[in-house]
Amino acid sequence: MSNKAPKIITRRQAIATVAARFEKQYALRMMETGSRKDRKPWGEIHAELKKLDPKTATEQDVADIIGNTSWTELTCDQCKQPADAIARFTSPDATTDICKACIDKTKAAFTTTEQAT
Ligand SMILES: [Zn+2]
Repeated sequence: MSNKAPKIITRRQAIATVAARFEKQYALRMMETGSRKDRKPWGEIHAELKKLDPKTATEQDVADIIGNTSWTELTCDQCKQPADAIARFTSPDATTDICKACIDKTKAAFTTTEQAT
C-alpha cells in the first residue's frame, strides 16, 4: 500500500513528457542501427519528438510522429472514458488512473453514506 497522494497528470504534461518517456522505454532500441521494415527508426522518432515545443505541441503532432495516440491518451480506469486529466494512484503492483468525474462521484457517495450513518 502506498500512502502517497495521487499524481495529477494532464494531457499537456503527457505531450510535454513524451520525448523523455519514449527515450526511457526505447533507449536500447534507439541504438539499433538497422532500419525497421517500413517504419521509422526509433532514434528518428525520438529526434522528432524532441523537436516538438512542449508548450504548444498537440496530441496530433505526437501521433503524426509516432503513428498513434497511445502516448498522449489519458483514459480513466473506472469509467473507461478519455479524460483531459487523471489522478494516477500507484502502488507496488498496480497503477490506476481515475478521472475527475469519477473522483467527484466517489466524494458524493462518501458524503451520502456518511450523512446516512
Ligand atoms: Zn472516470
